[in-house]
Amino acid sequence: MHGSGAVPKVVAKNPLVEIDGDEMTRVIWAMVKEHLIEPFVEIRLERYDLFLPERDRTDDQVTVQAAEAIRKHGVGVKCATITPDAARVKEYNLKKAWPSPNGTLRAILDGTVFRKPIVVKTIPPMVRAWKKPITIGRHAYGDVYRDVEIKVPGPGKVELTYTPADGGPGQWLVVHEFQGPGVALGMHNTDQSIRSFARACIQFALAERLDLWFGAKDTISKTYDARFKDIFREEVEARKSDFEAAGITYSYLLIDDAVARVMRSAGGFLWACRNYDGDVMSDMLASGYGSLGLMTSVLVSPEGKFEYEAAHGTVQRHYYQHLKGEPTSTNSTATIFAWSGALGKRGELDGTPELTEFARKLEESVIETIESGTVTKDLAAIAEPKVESYISTEGFITAIADRLRAKVEAGAAAR
Ligand code: NAP
Ligand code: MG
Repeated sequence: MHGSGAVPKVVAKNPLVEIDGDEMTRVIWAMVKEHLIEPFVEIRLERYDLFLPERDRTDDQVTVQAAEAIRKHGVGVKCATITPDAARVKEYNLKKAWPSPNGTLRAILDGTVFRKPIVVKTIPPMVRAWKKPITIGRHAYGDVYRDVEIKVPGPGKVELTYTPADGGPGQWLVVHEFQGPGVALGMHNTDQSIRSFARACIQFALAERLDLWFGAKDTISKTYDARFKDIFREEVEARKSDFEAAGITYSYLLIDDAVARVMRSAGGFLWACRNYDGDVMSDMLASGYGSLGLMTSVLVSPEGKFEYEAAHGTVQRHYYQHLKGEPTSTNSTATIFAWSGALGKRGELDGTPELTEFARKLEESVIETIESGTVTKDLAAIAEPKVESYISTEGFITAIADRLRAKVEAGAAAR
């Protein structure tokens, strides 16, 4: 039930970069804007459409323009997008398999991705100890993701060589003298990237007032992992007084110890993860907290630019149901939190607390809707107490809109 007509809109000072995307999340995107944003907020949306046909039409320039726009305006909100593979090239009749938009955005903004689950009382985490969200900051450069690999066919030597660009003395190591077939790889990272990752995590921990954990395996990897540990320590030392002022701590742990402690913890901290650890552990946390539909993601650049999105993909299977005219029950929570995250940050950066307050009301409305038992199919399966039925994709969003309207009207009446 909608209330007594229009409520006064919250006015934003500066534009927000809106990046639209593909499939089911594109359908959700339009509904979220129509029901939850446009009726309540007056904001200039600078829109970039990363819908796959549009990336193809512009030779992917639209993705580059979107990244530049975030650098200019400081805050963006992004819908999930297809990363095309061979099947998609055929399905959409593409000129080529364009690269992952998130990869392009990350490369231009040079950011670190932080993923945080939304904690709802009626969706208990699989791990009983977890009471608060655990945020993961994943290093997005190097290690095994930029390695070179050899399949060793038979007996022989694999070596590691460093040849200095200035012609100075080099270094040379034997990796292994093979007696038979095997495999070998070479991987790297750079001080600059590690440092920028450490700084992003420190910045995030300070801003959110979260203790910072970092894990590696320097007992085994005495040079490689130890470099990460040392750079983190240097960067934390440099911000020592800020840590004290924020009342937060930094802990370095061996990665296996970190994993064990994470499982026993109550949550409420930032876990800085190496590239591979972050890849694996963020999926573990997402399922541990309940549903992909409850996992948020924000890219934070060292320049202090922010791009918010849901951690999940375009939910292709649901989209094909939707195209066939079948009812869907896709969870829009993480997409809505991408919007509330971006609007809240816009308000914070612009000094418009009304906008940040609106973002908080929007999040409350989502959580209260779920807690009242109005949930999508993914959550119906795991909610406690059990719910008998689930609601449609659009029904969930309009139920949230009704609560939000009531909150906004109550706020306006109290003023
Ligand atoms: P996905 O979109 O994350 O969905 C995988 C499955 O997880 C769904 O089929 C669904 O399970 C469940 N799920 C995910 N989000 C859900 C939600 N909001 N509500 C309810 N259920 C949800 O992954 P995908 O289908 O493997 O990938 C589709 C496309 O997304 C790919 O083209 C990929 O490139 C892209 N992708 C984009 C991003 C991004 O832009 N950030 C990230 C990852 C993937 P059920 O089918 O069992 O209901
Ligand atoms: Mg993964």
